[in-house]
Parts: sequence; structure tokens; C-alpha cells
Amino acid sequence: MFQWLLQCQAPRLPKAGETIHGHRFFTGFGGKGANQCIQAAKLGARTAMVGKVGKDFFGDSYIQNFKDNGVNTACVFQAPDVATGAASIVVNDAGENAIVIVAGANLLLGAAELQASLPALSRTTVLLCQLEIRPECSLQALRTARQHNVKTIFNPAPAVPDLDPDFYTLSDVLCCNESEAELLTGSPVATVEDARRASGELLGRGCGAVLLTMGAQGCVVLEAKGAATHHVPAPAVTAVDTTGAGDSFLGALAFYMAHYPALPLEEMARRANHIAGVSVQAVGTQASYPSRTDLPAELF
Ligand code: ADP
Repeated sequence: MFQWLLQCQAPRLPKAGETIHGHRFFTGFGGKGANQCIQAAKLGARTAMVGKVGKDFFGDSYIQNFKDNGVNTACVFQAPDVATGAASIVVNDAGENAIVIVAGANLLLGAAELQASLPALSRTTVLLCQLEIRPECSLQALRTARQHNVKTIFNPAPAVPDLDPDFYTLSDVLCCNESEAELLTGSPVATVEDARRASGELLGRGCGAVLLTMGAQGCVVLEAKGAATHHVPAPAVTAVDTTGAGDSFLGALAFYMAHYPALPLEEMARRANHIAGVSVQAVGTQASYPSRTDLPAELF
């Protein structure tokens, strides 16, 4: 998904019908799919985005943002009569927020656009999908990838409790955070032990591997071909803004699966932890994602 982010910082959140003065306003680029794609591109992956924006100022700016980051935009379509997806965010001095997301053009991505993207989809090495577009669209992309032996990563976010079971069987790697795992399994996920249990349950639904991210606790990895779950701790860092950390992790994972396919999944997770750990030490979402040149050579 693409989202144009419009963020205000204010002493408090306004009440219904109220107008208040804020301290700061800024715009940015967001949306899970777009964030993940930008992180992979910043690490040096050859990336292409499939999606839809409006034929408006925001859509044009988003396409330019992709081009500036070296992402192929041949499969980014523009809807003439619907606005680009947007998120209006107010953050108060306590760091609490109120957010309205309008999916807009994202929901118009459908069979025709997927058909037009087929040559790109079938030639790629790794496909990464989320749930911010119509679920049947993500499902169709995953099916196409499977038919063409493309490795699939599925990020069930935002999570829905009644996920189509085919999402699991079509995922080589299912990667989600604690709250998503909680919604999918119906059980609380707070500790590493909980995460091990949830990973086992999700793996049992038919995916090739499960990666469950746990913020500062790192992640848990479980593969169908391996017997045990592994906890991969995150490096201890001082986090200043964790927005989009999961997307940084996923973009890094996709990069490693495409460019270092022989690495054990646990090692990919260790490196993705490192990269997402760098992203939380700076403010912003895509702006906080490290590039290859910002990272130690041992990660490549
Ligand atoms: P999401 O952004 O989806 O909520 P998480 O909070 O699980 O995802 O974070 C994803 C990854 O980002 C973690 O697995 C970890 O690698 C890194 N990360 C997030 N928060 C921190 C933190 N406070 N310290 C170090 N790493 C972090």
C-alpha cells in the first residue's frame, strides 16, 4: 500500500468540533508495501512495486519518491478519479496518536493490474505481500508467484482473524509481529515462550516458515524443515521512533532472500534485526531506513 502521511504535532488531540494550534506539521511517505520496498531498495535490491495511486499531486510525488530510491515503477498504476491513499496523523506531547487512514486508490488495484504486472511478477525472485490492498489481490499475486517458483513472503498486516487458509499454504515465509500473531491465533503473545507457541500454531497452518517479530526482544524463527524454534535477540539500542520498524525488518528479509538465498533463515533474521534496529534510532519511517553504505560490511 501507498500512503501519503500528513502529520501534525500538537499539545493534545483535538476533541470533536474543536480547532487547536499544533507545533509542527510535516508530510512523508508510508504504507507497508511501499516502506518494505524502499528498505529493500536502500540495501541494494533490484525492486519493483505493484500498486495503485491517484492521478493527483500525491500520486505523482509518490512515484517520484520511488524513482529517487531506485524502485521500478512500471507496475505502479494511476487511477484518474480516486485519491492516493493517505493517513492523517495527530501526535500529542505524550506521544499518543490519532490516525485516520483512507485507502483510496489502493483498493482499486485488481485483476487487470495484476494481469499487466504478470511479466514482472513471474520473473522476480521474491514476492512480498501484505493485507493493505484487497486480500483477493494479494492472494492472486501469491498464487502467481508459486506457479512461477518465486519465493513468497507474506506479512499478514493489518491482521484479520478470519484469514483465507490459502494465505498460509502460499507463504514460504509468514512474517508478523506480536499483535498480528495474537489476532491470528487468538492467544496473547507477549513473551518469547508465547511467540514460540504462536509460531508453532501458524506453521501448522501450512507455511514454510514463520518469523515473529517482537520489538526490542528481536524475533522468533521456526521452519517447517527444522525441528526447533530459535529466538534471535535484537541488538540493544536506544529507540527514538519505532514507527515502521517491522517494515524495515521485512524489506531487509526480502533483500537477503533474493540476494543471499543460501543463508540460513536464522542468520537472515539476525541481520534483519540489526537493520531494523538501526531504523528505530532515527525519527521517521522511510527516512530512518539505513542504506547499504550506512551499515557494516559483515551484513553483506
Ligand atoms: P512492528 O513495527 O510491526 O510493530 P516490531 O515492533 O516487532 O514490528 O519490530 C520489528 C523489528 O524491529 C524487531 O524484530 C527488531 O528487529 C526491531 N526493533 C523494533 N523495536 C526495537 C527496539 N526498541 N530495539 C531494537 N530493535 C527493535
